[in-house]
Parts: sequence; C-alpha cells; structure tokens
Amino acid sequence: MGKVTGFQEFNRELPEKVSPAERVKNYNEFVGLYSDEKLNQQSARCMNCGIPFCHSGCPLGNIIPEFNDAVYRKNWEEAYQILSSTNNFPEFTGRICPAPCESACVLGINKPAVAIEEIEKHIIEIAYANNLVKPTAPVIKTGKKVAVIGSGPAGLAAAAQLSKAGHSVTVYERDDKAGGLLRYGIPDFKLEKWIIDRRIQVMEEDGVEFKYNVEVGKDLSAEEVVRNHDAVVLSGGSTIPRNLPMPGRELKGIHFAMDFLKQQNKRVGDSKFDTEDIFATGKEVVVIGGGDTGSDCVGTSNRQGATSVKQFEVMFRPPEARTQHMPWPTYPMVLKVTSSHEEGADRYWGINTKEFLGDENGELRAIRVSDVSWEVDVLGRPVKFTEVEGSEREIPCQRVFLAMGFLHPQHEGLLKKLGVELDVRKNVNANDVTYRTNVSKVFSAGDMRRGQSLVVWAISEGRECARKVDEFLMGHSTLESKDAVN
Ligand code: FAD
Repeated sequence: MGKVTGFQEFNRELPEKVSPAERVKNYNEFVGLYSDEKLNQQSARCMNCGIPFCHSGCPLGNIIPEFNDAVYRKNWEEAYQILSSTNNFPEFTGRICPAPCESACVLGINKPAVAIEEIEKHIIEIAYANNLVKPTAPVIKTGKKVAVIGSGPAGLAAAAQLSKAGHSVTVYERDDKAGGLLRYGIPDFKLEKWIIDRRIQVMEEDGVEFKYNVEVGKDLSAEEVVRNHDAVVLSGGSTIPRNLPMPGRELKGIHFAMDFLKQQNKRVGDSKFDTEDIFATGKEVVVIGGGDTGSDCVGTSNRQGATSVKQFEVMFRPPEARTQHMPWPTYPMVLKVTSSHEEGADRYWGINTKEFLGDENGELRAIRVSDVSWEVDVLGRPVKFTEVEGSEREIPCQRVFLAMGFLHPQHEGLLKKLGVELDVRKNVNANDVTYRTNVSKVFSAGDMRRGQSLVVWAISEGRECARKVDEFLMGHSTLESKDAVN
C-alpha cells in the first residue's frame, strides 16, 4: 500500500476543467490532467481495503488498490500492466464511465471516494506517452478465423482479446469508422475521436482487420460471413430508439437524439460533412429523457447556440427512497448532474408530455405537458404515476430531442437472416455464461445481448465473450476472465 495515512491527509480533488462559459464555444474535451504531485496524492488516498469492494463494483473487475499503489510509487509500467490486464480501453472508461467502482469505494462511506476514474485515465495516457501500449498478438497464430460484427466497445474488446489469443480477426462495421456509440453517439466534448483512432491503430498493428461501410445482412450476406469463419461475434448494439407516439409527433422539429448527435459528431470529425441538418441554433429546445443521451443533447444544443434548453424526465426527483436501504452511495441515473448541466439547462422531474403542437407550416411550436405524482412500493421504487390535476400547460419550443433510451437491436437484416433467437426484451438470446446464441458458432456481446447499458459493461461483455469463443475454438483459454480476479 502506497501511503498508510493518505486517506486522512488528502482530500479528493479532480483535475481542473475549462469553465462552462468557455467550453461551450467548441467541442473539445475540457477536463485537464493532474500535476505529478496531485496524481501521487490522489492515488495515496486508496486505503487498500481488506475486501476491496471497488473490484466487484467495476464490471471489469479492475484491480484498483494494486494500480493505485503502483501509481503512488510512480511505477507506470506496473500500473499499466495491472490496469490493462482487466481493461482493454482505459482511455474510454477513464473519460466517460459513471465509475461504479467509485460508488463501491469503502472510503466513500464517510469521505469522498478515491478518484479512481481519473487515476485510470492518467495511467493510460502516461502509458501511451511512454510507448508502453503495444500490440499483444502472439507470433504463432492458431489458424482460426473470427468475424466480429459491430465495432462499438463490445466488438472492439472481443476483437482485441481474440487477437491476443492468436486468432485472425475481421471486424465488420456498417459506419465509415470504428467505435460505435463511442464515435457517433458520445460527443467529442466527452471523448475526442483521435482517442479512438489511436486505439484502432494499435489494433491494426496487432493484425485486426477492419472492414467499414459493410452492413452484414444487407451489403454482405450474413450466412456467408458465418460460413467463412470459425466463429462469429454479434456486437451490433441496441439501436432502435424508444418513440413518443403522441399527437403531433409528425411535426417538423422533433428528432430522435441519435439523429441529432450523430450529425454533430460527423460534422466535428469531418469539415466536409454535408447533410440535411438538424440544428438547435436559435431554438428553444426541449430534451425528453434524463439519462446520458439526454445530457449529451443538452451539451450539444448549448454548443450550437440554442436560446434555451429544458430537460424533462417523467421520473420523480427525490433520491432518498432509493438510497435509504443502501449504505453505499448509489448512481441514480436521472439525478446525475453532468458537465452538460453545469453549462446550462433547466431540469424538470415528474413531468409528462401529452401532445406536440404545431403552426400552420407543420413546424413544432410548443408541447403540452402536465406534472405527475408517483406511487412507490415499499422499497421506494416508482410503480405508477397519476397526473396532477390542473397542472397541464404549454411549453413553447421549436426543437424536441427524444432521448428516452433504446428498445432493442435492429432485427431486420443480420439477426433475421441468421435466425437468431431473441429474449423477452427482444435482445439477442445468449446468456452471460456462454454468450452463445441458438445459431451454431455464433456468439453475442454488448448492448445487442444485454440491452442498452454502459461502455464498461460492453467492454466486459466483449472480453468474457472472447474467452468463450476461444474455449470453443481451442478447447481451453488462457485469456483473462473477471471471475478469476474477484
Ligand atoms: P454500440 O456502441 O452501439 O456499437 C455497435 C456497432 O455495431 C455500431 O457501430 C453499429 O454501426 C454496428 N453494427 C450494427 N449492426 C451492424 C451490422 N449488421 N453490420 C455491421 N455493423 C453493424 N455509456 C457510458 O458508459 N458512458 C457514457 O457517457 C455514455 N454516453 C452515451 C451517450 C449516448 C448518446 C448513447 C446513445 C449511449 C451512451 N452510453 C454511455 C452507452 C454506451 O455508449 C453503450 O452502452 C455502448 O456503446 C454499447 O456498446 P456496443 O459495442 O454493445 O454497441
């Protein structure tokens, strides 16, 4: 353990951020780096608990006290080896993970948790700067070929691990670049895209082949892909957005969040990008949905110069009922204050949208809403809402972004063509022990299998699934598994 008294001596500090007023002028990341001294102090706050709950709090099983100790001793290579043994992409999670490890940090019971996420980001950035991030594929290959369909964090993690096991891996991606939602969902102000490019370059050096602009099941026969490979991983994400089929839904100015965000991400990545644009500039914006996607719409609307941004969430606000039975701090998604909220947005909880109202040109001019009150069960979980009498009103707006989550993966094309069985939620039916679908030699991981989730879970699923594929191909696997860590 680095410094026995560190947690008593030092307070949690985060790196400096560019002020909200400045950062909305562009799409750049705005969180700085620690000085050497600060990084040292922050890692010294780790208590190296007898039972490090942070391990199991992290879906990847990151070995946190050990890498904190290595950081404290400034042994960067050791810190990087420990971190990369459980996480293929700390440069992503170190920037955009909601850090369930920090919610599980024992220090968090009576002091702010160790700044694990930031420490993780520093380890990987120092590793890149010192040329420690190198290809991992063995010289002797197994001769087995694996196709990974979808290049989001789940597909990338599966591909990286399968390559490490010595298999020849081809990643098929229907977009023009790799990354999935990392690239075209999450805005640059949370994750600049050169960070993805840098990782793809390492993977290419490792021998992973990427084929872009290929939608398997449409541009390329799904059956052919299965026939030509020894195993296939389906990691196509959860892409069908939840709609709000209210009267007036057809009006101009109402968009799914992803249509809005993807356009802006493309615009930032390519100055020549030209399409029928969705802009919030000069508009009164309402974002419906209180999660990460909604926050990203808030941040993007502010950067585009919206005149006002309101964010609506039907769920009630008070966290007490949800947290009183748990000793640890929890992560109530709809209560989270993100950096986008610091930049300006009026947030409303317990509000229900009833109708979209338009003008004579079919353009959105307002929405009709009402307040709702929630009935909760004994654990304080919301069960049913009723409208608050007399609360109905109109809210003027010319843009609405629907950010109410995703229902399930696209079924047309790939999944239907292969005859992949679905579960009750209409995700791919493959359990989290075998990751196998009903189709011979076809596996699945990430949001396509588990439903919409988090980047850290996608990476975790990709890794675990790769191990199962490796076992299937070779009879055994030496790839790491989080079960071996916890
Ligand atoms: P995806 O990232 O969705 O990638 C799937 C890929 O498969 C896509 O590139 C798609 O084009 C490709 N594909 C699909 N079908 C085919 C086909 N037939 N052929 C070829 N390619 C195909 N999580 C966090 O942890 N932190 C955040 O801050 C955060 N912010 C988010 C913001 C937004 C706007 C959204 C929408 C999600 C956010 N998430 C966040 C969730 C996170 O991005 C997802 O859980 C994660 O990306 C899922 O990874 P995946 O690899 O399973 O799928």
